[in-house]
Amino acid sequence: MAILEQAPVGLMGFSREALRALFDSHPMFFRADSAAALAQQTGIDVAGLERSLSGYNLAVARGEDPLGRRHLPRPIGEGAFHAIRMQGYSVTSTVGLAVDDQLRVLRGDGQPIPNLYAAGELLGSGQLMGKAFCGGMMVTPALSFGRLIGQRIAAAVTQA
Ligand SMILES: Cc1cc2nc3c(=O)[nH]c(=O)nc-3n(C[C@H](O)[C@H](O)[C@H](O)COP(=O)(O)OP(=O)(O)OC[C@H]3O[C@@H](n4cnc5c(N)ncnc54)[C@H](O)[C@@H]3O)c2cc1C
Repeated sequence: MAILEQAPVGLMGFSREALRALFDSHPMFFRADSAAALAQQTGIDVAGLERSLSGYNLAVARGEDPLGRRHLPRPIGEGAFHAIRMQGYSVTSTVGLAVDDQLRVLRGDGQPIPNLYAAGELLGSGQLMGKAFCGGMMVTPALSFGRLIGQRIAAAVTQA
């Protein structure tokens, strides 16, 4: 409870009052009188959470943490205890359809499928950026490659 009252709010644009109110209203925010009750409410292993808390408190007392955390401002003591559910999600796909240099979709044997092209998210970031990922580098290739495909199809139709 003391951490909720004294630590920086941490959610951009939220006042402490607005943050507090979320624990009474939002399905991803939890509050309980004990660590065990909080674990039950959130589906966390009760013994595991209690072990983590006592390990953390021991690290704070010693000023030394086996996990290497250096920010050890205060122990987690009296309730109420609070938790916020964290949710992972995928923003882009790394893998996608294989294409050749004309953006024709390739079969497993490497041969292009006639009249089937792909661009954008369908290609996956890996084909554009290799093993690295550069944020903000998906929309421009999607637009550029889509335009190239459109030009090629238009040219093919005109020639036919
Ligand atoms: C939260 C988030 C943040 C992102 N931020 C960035 C960023 O900052 N910079 C950046 O470069 N990239 C960013 N990306 C990635 C980028 O938005 C996508 O890679 C890009 O929009 C892909 O474009 P697209 O045209 O291939 O696919 P989409 O934009 O997904 O377009 C596919 C379209 O097809 C429609 N569709 C699907 N099925 C059918 C169907 N059966 N019939 C008809 N229509 C259908 C869908 O409704 C959709 O409109 C972000 C992605 C997310 C999710």
